[in-house]
Amino acid sequence: MATYTPMIQQYLQVKADYQDAFLFFRLGDFYEMFFDDAISASQELEITLTSREGGGEERIPMCGVPYHSAAQYIERLIERGYKVAICEQTEDPKQAKGVVKREVVQLITPGTMMEGKGLNEKENNFIAVISQFDGEIYGFVYCDLSTGEMKGTLLKGDFDIVLNELALSGAREVVLDNEFDANWQTKIRERTGATISFESDTEFKSVYSRLLTNSPNEELSTTAARLLNYLYRTQKRNLDHLQALDSYELQQFMKIDYFSKRNLELTETIRSKAKKGSLLWLLDETKTAMGGRLLKQWIDRPLLQESEIVRRQTLVETFITNYFERQDIREKLKEVYDLERLAGRVAFGNVNARDLVQLKRSLLQVPFIQTAIAGMNTKEAHAIMERLDPCEEIVDMLERSLSENPPLSLKDGNLIQDGYNEQLDQYRDASRNGKTWIAQLEREEREKTGIKSLKVGYNRVFGYYIEVTKANLHLLKEGQYERKQTLTNAERFITPELKEKEALILQAEEKSVDLEYELFTEIREYVKEFIPRLQALAKTISEIDVLQCFATISEERHYVKPNFSSERTMLIKDGRHPVVEKVMNAQEYVPNDCYLDQNRELLLITGPNMSGKSTYMRQVALTAILAQIGCFVPASEATLPIFDQVFTRIGAADDLIAGQSTFMVEMLEANHAIANATSDSLILFDEIGRGTSTYDGMSLAQAIIEYIHDKIGAKTLFSTHYHELTVLEEELNHLKNVHVSAIEQNGKVVFLHKIKEGAADKSYGIHVAQLANLPSELISRANEILQSFEQQQEYRENEQGQGEKQKAESVKEISQLSFFEEQEQDKKVNHQLTTKEKQIVNKIKNIDILDMTPMQAMNILYELHKKVKN
Ligand code: ADP
Ligand code: MG
Repeated sequence: MATYTPMIQQYLQVKADYQDAFLFFRLGDFYEMFFDDAISASQELEITLTSREGGGEERIPMCGVPYHSAAQYIERLIERGYKVAICEQTEDPKQAKGVVKREVVQLITPGTMMEGKGLNEKENNFIAVISQFDGEIYGFVYCDLSTGEMKGTLLKGDFDIVLNELALSGAREVVLDNEFDANWQTKIRERTGATISFESDTEFKSVYSRLLTNSPNEELSTTAARLLNYLYRTQKRNLDHLQALDSYELQQFMKIDYFSKRNLELTETIRSKAKKGSLLWLLDETKTAMGGRLLKQWIDRPLLQESEIVRRQTLVETFITNYFERQDIREKLKEVYDLERLAGRVAFGNVNARDLVQLKRSLLQVPFIQTAIAGMNTKEAHAIMERLDPCEEIVDMLERSLSENPPLSLKDGNLIQDGYNEQLDQYRDASRNGKTWIAQLEREEREKTGIKSLKVGYNRVFGYYIEVTKANLHLLKEGQYERKQTLTNAERFITPELKEKEALILQAEEKSVDLEYELFTEIREYVKEFIPRLQALAKTISEIDVLQCFATISEERHYVKPNFSSERTMLIKDGRHPVVEKVMNAQEYVPNDCYLDQNRELLLITGPNMSGKSTYMRQVALTAILAQIGCFVPASEATLPIFDQVFTRIGAADDLIAGQSTFMVEMLEANHAIANATSDSLILFDEIGRGTSTYDGMSLAQAIIEYIHDKIGAKTLFSTHYHELTVLEEELNHLKNVHVSAIEQNGKVVFLHKIKEGAADKSYGIHVAQLANLPSELISRANEILQSFEQQQEYRENEQGQGEKQKAESVKEISQLSFFEEQEQDKKVNHQLTTKEKQIVNKIKNIDILDMTPMQAMNILYELHKKVKN
C-alpha cells in the first residue's frame, strides 16, 4: 500500500469500511470508482472502464460518472440490490494541504432509498431487521425510511414463520447480526431476494426512547435498536420523522401465508408479478399516494375484529350514500401531496420551496374535505372528520412567506414573497432602484448621443455595459466612455457611474439571495416542528382515501355489504370473481352461489377442465378477504364467518412457477395448511395430488379430505379430477359433491360455468379437443375409441355383476377420471386388438392429457392419425 499515491491510499482506507458497497469517490465533478468496484460498475452500468497510474506496479482500473447525473446510476445499482457509499470532499480543495479530506456522507441501500424512480409512490419501501433470542423467539421490525413508519412483532416458532412475515412485508433489505445463521441467510435470499446487511450494535440510545415507548418488551426494543443503529450509522443525518414503533400481534389479523397470497394474486399476478390483474389493481381507486400504500397494507392484513370491520363497512356505506360529497372529496384528494414522504424529506433537510408550496396547497384542501364529511350523517364519519387537522399554522406561515411559483433551486432567489422580511425588501428595493436607474441611463444616453440603437446590457463576465454599433461609433465623442470589449459589429463601453451602480445592484442581489436561502431554512425548520401532526394528518387522509375507494368500487361494480355469522355459516348468492369479472366484461360472467354451514363444511368440486373450478374457489376466498378488509363483496347477498386463516394450494399443473419439485412443494404446502388450520379457517385445495402418479395422488387426496373432515372441520373447497372421490359423500357427513356443468350443443361442449349440486358424470376431454379445432376425422375416431372402451367397461361390469353401489365402494381400486379406463380393463381390451391397434392404444394410454399444451396434443394426435390411416 505504501507505494500507492496518497489519494489512492485514502481511497483504500475509506473502502476498507465499505467492503460490500460500491464506493463513489468524489474527484472534482466526478464520482470515480477504482479496482474491482470499477470493473463491476463498468459492467453493471455499461460505462467505459479506463485506468490510471496510482503508484502501484500496475495501472488501476477506474471508471466514473459525472456528479450531476450520478442519481440515475446510483438508482440502477440499488435496483439490482447493491449498496452505494457516497464519499464527498469535506474541505475546499483550494484550502487543502495535501490530499483533500474525504468522508462517506451516506450509504444508500435498497431499503434506505428516499427518492427516485426506484421508489414507487404507491408502495412502501421497507427495510427489516431480524434478531434471534433464546427459545425460538425472533424479533421482527420493519420500517419505511421515506415515510417514517415502523412496525414490529415478536415471532415464536420455527424460522419459516419469520421468513413468511419477511416475505409478506416485501422488505428489500434485511439487517442481521453478524453471527446470524448462514443457512437462514441463504433462505432469506432465496425466498425474498432481499439484500442482507449487518449490524451488531443493539445498544439502546437515549434518542430512541421517543420511538420505543410503545414497545411491549425488551426483545422488541433491542431488535428495533439494532435497526435504528444501522439507520443512524449509514444515513448520517437527521431522522426526526421516524414514528414510534407500532407493535402488532399476528393474532390480530387474518393469516394468509406467502404462497396463498401469491396464489390468490392479492397484490401481484403470478405470471408477471405485476400489479395489473391483481386484487390490489382492481381496488385501487385511491387518489393519493398515501392512500395507495395504505390500501396495500390493508389487503396484506385483513382484520379479525368484527367491530373494526363493521366500522370500516359503515364508513364505506356512508360514502356510498353520500355520492356528491364523495365526488367532492375525491376531487380534493387529487390535490393532496404525499405528506408522509414530504415529512421525511423535511427531516432529512432536502425539501425545496416547491415541495412546501405543494404542502400548503395540500393543507388547503383539508377544510373542504372536513366540510364534505360534515354533510354525512353517521357518527363514524364525524369521528374521522374530527381527527382531520388542517395545520393552520403551517398554512398561515407558508402563505405569508413563500412566493407562488418558486424555482427548484434554493440558490437563485425568488423563493420568498415581498413583505415577509424587511431586510430582504430593502435589498430588493436597492436592486430594483438600480435597475430603474440603468433603464433611465439608457434613455438619457440615447438622447445625449443621438444614437437610437444604443443599449445597456449585462453579462456575467463584464457586468453592465453600454453597447454601440460600429456604424454609430463616429457619433461618440473621443473618450466619452471607457472601451471594454470589441465585437464584430459593435463596441461595448463602461462608465465609472455605471460600475458604481452595478456594484450596488450585484451586492444587493447577492445579499438577497443569501438572505432568501437563510429565510427558507428557517421556514423549513418551522415546518419540521409539525412533522408529528403532518404524519397524523397523513394517516387520517389515507384512511379516508381508502374508504372512498372501497365505496367507489363497491358502487360501480354492484357489491353488497356482507354480514358476519357467528355460526360459521357462509352464504354467498350470485358471487363473482372480482378480477375475472372486471377483465372479461361483467355481462358474460356467470355468478355462482356458495353455501356452507356446520353440516356442510367441505365441497368436493368436479367438472371438466376449463369449466371454472379454480375461478370459483378463488372467488370464494377473495370474497372472504374483501369482507375482512372492510370492503363490500361481489355478490347479491353475503353472510360470512370471520375466517382466522386462508390456505390455498393450487395443483402442480396450474402452478406456473415451474422449476421446483412441484409435488414436494405441493405436499409441503398441504402439510402447512393441515398443520395450522382450525375450524375457523378456509382451505382451498385445487386439484391436489396432481403432481404424482394417479394411485399416489388419489390416495393422498382422499386421505387429506378425510383428515380435514374428521380432525379439523375447516371450511374447505376441494376440486379434483379424480372422479372416484365423489363417492366420499356417502361416508363423510359434512362433505357434499358439487360440479361445474357443461352441456353439449350440436355435438360440441359448451361450458356454462355454473356450479350445481352433485357430482359431474362425464368428462368432456374429446369435446375440448374439438373446440381446439383438431381435424374432424380424428375427433370421430377418438369418439369411436371412446365408445368401444365404454362398451368394454359395460361388458366387464355386467360380467362381474358389479352394480353402481359396488363401484362406489371400490374407490380404492383406483383409476383416473378419463375416458380411457386403466389397467385391468386395458388388458382385456388389448387381447382383442391387433398389434398395431395395441400400439395405438398404448400410445393413447400413456398420454397425460391434463398435463399437455394444445400444441402437444395436436402433435400426438397427428402422429396417431398417421398411424391409423396407414
Ligand atoms: P378449471 O379450473 O375448471 O380448469 P378455470 O377456473 O381455470 O377452470 O376457468 C377456465 C376459464 O373459464 C377462465 O379462464 C374463465 O375465463 C372462464 N370462467 C371461469 N369461471 C367463469 C364464470 N363463472 N363465468 C364466466 N367465465 C368463467
Ligand atoms: Mg383449475
